[in-house]
Amino acid sequence: MATDSRQTEVLYPDGTGLARAAGLLRAGELVAFPTETVYGLGGDARNDDAIAGIFRAKGRPRFNPLIVHVADIDGAAAIARLNDDARRLAEAFWPGPLTLVLARRRDARLCHRVSAGLETVAIRVPAHPVARELLRAFGGPVGAPSANPSGKVSPTRAEHVLGELGGRISAVVDAGPSTVGIESSIVALSPEPTLLRPGGLAPDAIEACLGRALRRPAPHQAGKAAPESPGQLASHYAPRAALRLNATRARPGEALLGFGPVACALNLSRRGDLAEAAANLFHALRELDRRGVARIAVSPIPDRGLGAAINDRLRRAAAPRV
Ligand code: AMP
Ligand code: MG
Repeated sequence: MATDSRQTEVLYPDGTGLARAAGLLRAGELVAFPTETVYGLGGDARNDDAIAGIFRAKGRPRFNPLIVHVADIDGAAAIARLNDDARRLAEAFWPGPLTLVLARRRDARLCHRVSAGLETVAIRVPAHPVARELLRAFGGPVGAPSANPSGKVSPTRAEHVLGELGGRISAVVDAGPSTVGIESSIVALSPEPTLLRPGGLAPDAIEACLGRALRRPAPHQAGKAAPESPGQLASHYAPRAALRLNATRARPGEALLGFGPVACALNLSRRGDLAEAAANLFHALRELDRRGVARIAVSPIPDRGLGAAINDRLRRAAAPRV
């Protein structure tokens, strides 16, 4: 198991690098790898020690289950039961930024810790060619949450991972910036299709495929009963700086994180493109932290399409820290 005293290897995403990454995963080590959403921190989903190591490296609460990454629908069907809605969504959107929460098969070779002891398991087939190649080379399910300390901003570049988890994990595969830049959309299928987390796949695309509206649980409030999805904690994705949302201009002492044609410290998308804004969001929050900004004001972001996921992350980044 990786320890703090070891150096984290930086691997190229070529045949040699991915063979090394797959070998490390087989040996129960932790390897961060690129996906189209954000960089994931991977461990063998069948190996209890590896998965325990992920929770430890991230400081992640044990009740917060991981997403299991597989190479294809067959890989998902080996560990979970896909009902008709699940199959329709999987066929339409996998590989891609959609996670399905499915009933776990009794005979699934998965450690229980990976799904925090639940009867369900969250599964995704990532679209990033390097992630797909790694999953094929490894040949089994990989438990992988975002490769950042729990509660902090997700990493969209290998240098973000190294800056925060370097020395605590065995390796990171560096393939440049993630193109979607925001975590996957999470949909639970039973009893009714429910959007547990808006993400890199726009909710209207999911609803169009299902032919009906998604249920949306109320956001979790601190101090209330346990959230329906453990990741719905109010404060999350938080930079060091404080955030003020829907700001038309910066007040004294604030840096404006802009959207659209505005004068600002950093712009998520000058042309007002939501996909571009999602891809830039986490790097921009980190960059403002790096500049030592204490307060960030953020331009209004329309709530349509990927805007739903951007606003979800911004609201949680702005929530009182616990
Ligand atoms: P992350 O891997 O950091 O993107 O977070 C994964 C998130 O997936 C968790 O925080 C949960 O919100 C959600 N999740 C994973 N497994 C389940 C499950 N079995 N039931 C409900 N939500 C889940
Ligand atoms: Mg995360």
